[in-house]
Amino acid sequence: MNTPIRKGTFLVTGASSGIGAVYAERLARRGHDLVLVARDAARLGVLAAKLTAETGRDVGVLIADLTFKADVHRVEDRLYNDAKITGLVNNAGVGGSAKLIDSDPDELEALIDINVVALTRLASAAARGFVERGGGTIVNIASIVALAPELLSGAYSGSKAYVVNFSQSMHGELADKGVRVQAVLPGVTVTDFWDKTGVPVAHLPKEWAMCAGEMVDAALAGLDQGEVITIPSLPDIADWNAYEAARKALGPGLSRQHAAERYRLGEQQAA
Ligand code: NAP
Repeated sequence: MNTPIRKGTFLVTGASSGIGAVYAERLARRGHDLVLVARDAARLGVLAAKLTAETGRDVGVLIADLTFKADVHRVEDRLYNDAKITGLVNNAGVGGSAKLIDSDPDELEALIDINVVALTRLASAAARGFVERGGGTIVNIASIVALAPELLSGAYSGSKAYVVNFSQSMHGELADKGVRVQAVLPGVTVTDFWDKTGVPVAHLPKEWAMCAGEMVDAALAGLDQGEVITIPSLPDIADWNAYEAARKALGPGLSRQHAAERYRLGEQQAA
């Protein structure tokens, strides 16, 4: 049976634009109060005022640059200590499309700081708070590139593969403690992300691109259905289930006392 999603306040990171702004709007319409997190104070202020006027919900703003440790700590404190918070949408993130040898190492580090380090710290603070408070919901925004390292940059797809593994492990650890965990793997979604990543969305095949509203509605439907992994575009869930079954079938062979036969050539030659 699915643990129902508790009313209460959701903290949404990266709420100043794109997918995060749509989550904020949809969650407010579902009756949740909100804490909106991002760097752009003006955009957050406009969205908060609009959502309060339209839905009557209490919408607060927390300005933070999630590549700055002190700012991440402030958001962690809020998640852990504010008893009204029952949900986290760990959405803030940046992309990358440059080849590794053409990439600025400081930009790669900043990508990992926001997509991996901040996401992990915020999930950890929320998980501790939610367990102490008797439950909660954590949504981690990954990407289909977690399953497709051939697309975009290795650092970006690697950061999103981390989010998938991390979320599956979190689910295993927290499900019996009343904490719901979902990883969402959007495909191409029409937001400012693509201009910032250096690949205008208009240059991509139109049949790949979903509007952010449809993507978030599908992700919330997956959350309502109790999914741990939601891939909004994937037509047949049986394909994901087969992928997971194949991964789990590797289990008995992954750690053994002796190397596989094909790696014991030296031994055979010496004999
Ligand atoms: P977006 O419109 O560019 O939104 C990114 C959000 O992250 C903004 O609100 C931005 O706010 C925030 N952000 C960026 N750097 C930040 C920082 N240093 N500190 C705090 N907040 C920061 O892109 P989006 O498409 O909505 O992306 C949202 C998430 O979806 C990301 O994790 C992305 O990887 C993932 N995703 C997107 C797609 C897609 O096709 N669009 C596909 C798969 C996954 P400020 O600039 O105001 O700080």
